[in-house]
Formats: sequence, C-alpha cells, structure tokens
Amino acid sequence: MHVSSEAPMLEGVGIGNRYGRLVVIGSSGLDAHRNRLWLCLCDCGNTAQARTTELRRGSRKSCGCLRLGRVKRRRKKSIDTRALNRFLSGGLSKPKNRI
Ligand SMILES: [Zn+2]
Repeated sequence: MHVSSEAPMLEGVGIGNRYGRLVVIGSSGLDAHRNRLWLCLCDCGNTAQARTTELRRGSRKSCGCLRLGRVKRRRKKSIDTRALNRFLSGGLSKPKNRI
C-alpha cells in the first residue's frame, strides 16, 4: 500500500464543492508549504483562499466572517452609508459652471 501524506490531497476537493459557507470556485496555486490553495466564494460575498486539508477537515468554513460572528451585524449600516454618501457626493461635486 502506498500511503502518501502529500500526494492525493487534491482528491475530494473540486470546483463547485461546498464547505460550510465556502464554495470552491477555482484552484489558487500552492502556498509556501506547497499545499494546494483553493479559491473559494463565501456566502457573504467575499472570496477566500483555503487549503485542501482545511476544507476536508472542516477547519475552514468561511472567509473569516464566521469568526466575526460575535459582532452582531443586525444594526443598520447607517454610519457606513452616510460616510459613503458623503464621500460620493463630495467627490462628485456638482459642476457649477454656467454655460
Ligand atoms: Zn464570509
């Protein structure tokens, strides 16, 4: 029997597979330890890279938003939206040129 701890870790992980909140959307090369990285799309809309082992073990289930779960995000984003609107309206200052 050939039991290699490195070789066939690709198996079991493929594009379209879902792990928690992550859906594998592509291969993302290798990390510094030559572990394969997968590009994953999180349910929250972010993308994340995850190793094959992390996905298979279930140690990686989100882009990181699950860890941030303790911060309740039920508030309305009033502050962010205001800041954004201010930024946008300031950046796009109305042209006052009279023709
Ligand atoms: Zn996420």
